[in-house]
Amino acid sequence: MSIKDNLEKIKKSIVHSNCLLIAVSKTKPNEVLLEAYEAGIRDFGENKVQELTAKAEELPKDIRWHMIGHLQRNKVKYIAPFVYLIHSVDSLKLLQEIDKQAEKVNRKIKVLLQVFIAKEESKFGLDESEILEAIQNGDIANCKHVEIMGLMGMATNTDNEATIRAEFKSLKNFAESLKEKSLPDNMRIEEISMGMSGDYLLAIEEGSTMVRVGSAIFGARNYQ
Ligand SMILES: *Cc1c(COP(=O)(O)O)cnc(C)c1O
Repeated sequence: MSIKDNLEKIKKSIVHSNCLLIAVSKTKPNEVLLEAYEAGIRDFGENKVQELTAKAEELPKDIRWHMIGHLQRNKVKYIAPFVYLIHSVDSLKLLQEIDKQAEKVNRKIKVLLQVFIAKEESKFGLDESEILEAIQNGDIANCKHVEIMGLMGMATNTDNEATIRAEFKSLKNFAESLKEKSLPDNMRIEEISMGMSGDYLLAIEEGSTMVRVGSAIFGARNYQ
């Protein structure tokens, strides 16, 4: 099936949900991204800073670039001027660096806090307790040049649907519990970024508002 066909099928399956489809284009060349662009996609996700900035330079300017992979602090400056949403804020130090770079370019940068939900060996992320502490002690409020829009999570890489569903549920529950708290002015819980090619329908059932779909659109990755 073509990229256009894949996209049509996926869009149809999520249209009822109001969920944003982010096309994860890592490892794919620009002409492949343009096929998705021509099929109407404006939100693209990348996991490497160098690849993201190179593509952003070449491709249409109305694309919204989502940084979804682990982000090193010394690379924040390269994406700060234009990135649309950083999904992968997995430490307070990274949040503070984004704040600093956002101030330099006179922007407010939108981010999501990446929360540990998987049982498997450590993926990157924050614990619920770390987030609660950063709310309470003012660390988040001090980052005046970031806007926290919600949470992101990655489920365990498994075929066990019950495990994945439970992990998505735990992220949704945490999001709901945060909504009941008094949050700093620069923090809202509107978005939950969860779900990839293998589990996006499950994620939507469990309350996802943004799915990050790569291989189901573009086929297998070109390199890793
Ligand atoms: C690669 C990647 C995806 C997309 O994975 P697929 O299984 O190809 O859909 C989603 N989220 C993150 C953080 C990724 O790195």
